[in-house]
Amino acid sequence: DVFYRELPKVELHAHLNGSVSYQTIEKLFSRKPHLNIEHSMTAIGKGQRRTLDECFQVFKVIQQLVNTEEDILMVATDVIKEFAADGVKYLELRSTPREEKDTGLTKKSYVETCLKAIQQCKEEGVDIDVRFLVAIDRRNGTEVAMETVKLAEEFMLSSDGLVVGLDLSGDPTVGHGKDLLPALQRAKNCGLKLSLHLSEVPSQLEESNLLLNLPPDRIGHGTFLHPEVGGSEGLVDKVVKNNIPLELCLTSNVKGQTVPCYSKHHFNYWYQKGHPSVICTDDKGVFSTDLSQEYQLAASTFGLDREAVWKLSREAIDCIFAPDTVKQQLKQKWTDLQPQVF
Ligand code: 5GP
Repeated sequence: DVFYRELPKVELHAHLNGSVSYQTIEKLFSRKPHLNIEHSMTAIGKGQRRTLDECFQVFKVIQQLVNTEEDILMVATDVIKEFAADGVKYLELRSTPREEKDTGLTKKSYVETCLKAIQQCKEEGVDIDVRFLVAIDRRNGTEVAMETVKLAEEFMLSSDGLVVGLDLSGDPTVGHGKDLLPALQRAKNCGLKLSLHLSEVPSQLEESNLLLNLPPDRIGHGTFLHPEVGGSEGLVDKVVKNNIPLELCLTSNVKGQTVPCYSKHHFNYWYQKGHPSVICTDDKGVFSTDLSQEYQLAASTFGLDREAVWKLSREAIDCIFAPDTVKQQLKQKWTDLQPQVF
């Protein structure tokens, strides 16, 4: 539907390597013919579902395909242009810095290359404002988390406002948030904004409670926070009192089977509360979706009219990590683009 494509949108939850499109994967395949990989290993097609564990296998395959600076530059540039073509005007891209001994890639050059892609798109006049979040993969433990924060700090100071925050992601069944608290606290103290994957799987109540005390600036998923799905009033209260926006990814949660079907997605719970809820893609490549489609799915599943959809996309601006001046510019853009009648 053209309304959704033309709707100006804010994307706040996009993992770089999960966002790689089919076309870009093709280009990566041709660069690495020796790797015996099929498309079914890099994306989850229409109507298909996997367990969350199987989803994490998919990321590993893509990361194998993206292991040089050239790959990262191509992947990041393609992803940014695809979001722009889908009507995204402001994007926060997140990625886990990786080191690859074979190709000489370092964590520092990894981030530098992502920033170079952002810069190049800007110079080419692509109509999208892109910022970067440095990601911690929780699987890698306490020390790596602290190193990652230090790296993010350096880039926050040197990147001219491109690096705005820190993400905590990775397999939620591995490790415990309490071991990452010192790193997250340090990040917060130095002015990095925090977006944390939280309550993505059941039985993380204790961890969620600890992490909410920081408090984070945004929550990724928060699927099992509310009492109806085994969360608690206490957790919901903390989220509400601190007014912490949620990044909600419908197709990702349905395909990853943490939510049984679209109509049971927790978007409805938070949206009905009037709590800041931002529709996002998570991994548009892996889950074969885009942000227009996610807005359309939210609208058709929960009965939002076009005016409500417009308001939803506009209110996402308040949840971005870039400074207030950027928020003002974006709000002006939305005003300029708003249709006279819906
Ligand atoms: P990258 O950081 O390599 O650019 O993107 C892929 C990584 O993002 C994965 O290895 C994983 O750490 C993280 N990621 C992507 N999607 C999800 C998700 O749905 N849940 C969690 N917890 N992590 C994810």
